[in-house]
Amino acid sequence: MPVPAGSSSALEFTLPEPLAAIATRPGDPGYEAVRHTYTRPGSPAAVLRVRNERDIGAALAFARREHVPLTVRSGGHGISGRSTNDGGLVVDLSLLASVTVLDAESGLVRVGAGARWGDVAAALAPHGLAVSSGDTGDVGVGGLATAGGIGLMSRRYGLTVDHMRAAELVLADGSLVRTDDLHDPDLFWAVRGAGANFGVATAFEFHASSVEGVCVDVSLYDASDTAAALTRWGEAVEASPRMVTSFLTLVTGPGGRPVAQAMTVYAGTDLEAADRAVRNLRSTGPLLHNRLSATSYHRLVPAAHQPQRAQQPLSVVRSGLLHRLDTAVTEAIASVADAAGIVQLRSVGGAVNDMPAAAMAYAHRSQNFSLMAATVPALANDFDQRWEALTPHVDGLYLSFETRTGMRQLQDAFPGPVLPRLIALKAHYDPEHRFDNNFALPTGPA
Ligand SMILES: Cc1cc2nc3c(=O)[nH]c(=O)nc-3n(C[C@H](O)[C@H](O)[C@H](O)COP(=O)(O)OP(=O)(O)OC[C@H]3O[C@@H](n4cnc5c(N)ncnc54)[C@H](O)[C@@H]3O)c2cc1C
Repeated sequence: MPVPAGSSSALEFTLPEPLAAIATRPGDPGYEAVRHTYTRPGSPAAVLRVRNERDIGAALAFARREHVPLTVRSGGHGISGRSTNDGGLVVDLSLLASVTVLDAESGLVRVGAGARWGDVAAALAPHGLAVSSGDTGDVGVGGLATAGGIGLMSRRYGLTVDHMRAAELVLADGSLVRTDDLHDPDLFWAVRGAGANFGVATAFEFHASSVEGVCVDVSLYDASDTAAALTRWGEAVEASPRMVTSFLTLVTGPGGRPVAQAMTVYAGTDLEAADRAVRNLRSTGPLLHNRLSATSYHRLVPAAHQPQRAQQPLSVVRSGLLHRLDTAVTEAIASVADAAGIVQLRSVGGAVNDMPAAAMAYAHRSQNFSLMAATVPALANDFDQRWEALTPHVDGLYLSFETRTGMRQLQDAFPGPVLPRLIALKAHYDPEHRFDNNFALPTGPA
């Protein structure tokens, strides 16, 4: 049962063993460190640092019996702040964070859902392996791997979910399942894109890629003509080899000048080849600053383990997937930027689009860009009017970058036959809606 953080309900209950032993409650030392998420303050009645699937089963059973709301948390970096609550239980998976190389030759690895992606990268680096995840090492494995995973090597290696070989979940009845292509394949299909709807994911197996190192180009461009800069960047990205993945953020430079900051990763170690490959992007606009260097993937995405204090309170976040950044699109993005706190474009395409759309619940396999824009509630009306002008150009959304959760967003996140299939699976695996925290699916007809 979802509990909106910010509501004032405080539930009184006594926790049975073994839950009492793993609970951090208001007044306990350490409560301040676990109550909030990165984007939202919370006041849960207890944060349960679960040690294994039995603890999770006990928490689910208690929540069901006592009608206590329950929320699942891996890294606490969900944009919508849904991994805390007020007055309920938080199942905190941070102790389930082991990273094991099962077979170094084939790159098969097992990762606990409570690990941070930066820690995964650091653990795999000595084996010459990496799983492309997101741009931030503090993001948790569980939230990202159940949704998609648009990373800094996506055009070369695809999404994080594209590398998943198996998932372990505690279902609503407390049973632990291991699902893959041969075991409960429908569930495995659903986990890779809509996973938070079906259970508590405890671990995943991934087929990691051999990654010796990367080259990183960080460039700042004058984006006074924002639309033109975005169009040129988009054309350059599409013309680039798959080794190149570029993320672009619009920022305000000195004197209020619009600046585009591009972080471009060449998924290889040859600095000269990287220089040639990213040169295309220099057409984005007048270059203000540039640094190209060789590094390792894990240094690119370190996990800082920053304390979570709701330090990123932007609560109106919109996502749109785009095929092209032609002028009509970039003019609309430039208009959104005028009312936004942050605008980011991530290149997808390349290997992301090699995967058949029917392969898993994340089905967006033809777009080239993922747009995320966010603002504060006070600017939401103006911002949303500007966003509406973009919608004719948008083809789908990525749920991790969207705070609205209505039927329209579900249809955009899960296009065509994906949503009806997910709804049928929801009715089978979670008929009582125990797992409705992240983009809740209905169980009846859409
Ligand atoms: C600074 C920042 C940068 C980001 N960059 C990227 C990026 O480059 N690419 C990208 O793809 N995404 C990115 N994201 C989005 C991020 O991937 C998602 O927000 C993701 O859900 C966060 O995972 P988490 O485990 O930290 O989140 P949490 O806050 O712990 O959880 C998010 C949601 O998933 C559910 N959930 C978490 N773990 C589990 C589990 N084990 N089983 C079932 N449900 C679970 C929670 O209940 C909650 O609803 C970024 C987010 C932030 C804040």
